Amino acid sequence: MASYEQLLDRAFSRLPETATRRERFEVPQVQVQREGTKTILKNFADICDRLNREAPHLMKFFVGVVGTKGAPDGPRLSLTGSFTDDVLQRAVATYVKDFVMCPSCNRPDTHLIKEERLTYLRCDACGAKHVRKNL
Ligand SMILES: [Zn+2]
Repeated sequence: MASYEQLLDRAFSRLPETATRRERFEVPQVQVQREGTKTILKNFADICDRLNREAPHLMKFFVGVVGTKGAPDGPRLSLTGSFTDDVLQRAVATYVKDFVMCPSCNRPDTHLIKEERLTYLRCDACGAKHVRKNL
């Protein structure tokens, strides 16, 4: 008898490649550039798009995590101070974990809603609702 893993492997190998690719959610990679005393997140608008989140929310999160001032600069985010790619990449990963992925079903098909001054992560896939930190 085939093991569960073998069955799973077989099931996945039968899926067309596009279907498996759509299932796997990847944290967007940051593109960082340092300009004098500032660190520029070049693909900020693209990250917001990919995560389907509002730029002001992501900006507040970034500024809070790295502990500095930030301002939008066209599609980019300008942060005061010098930060490594690693720090910013980890910030995106934390944001995804806290504000994008559903803790119940681990899918990214979610949105944020405000109710009675609380922020909730609402999952479109399974319907779960989880309280999140207000930023
Ligand atoms: Zn869910």
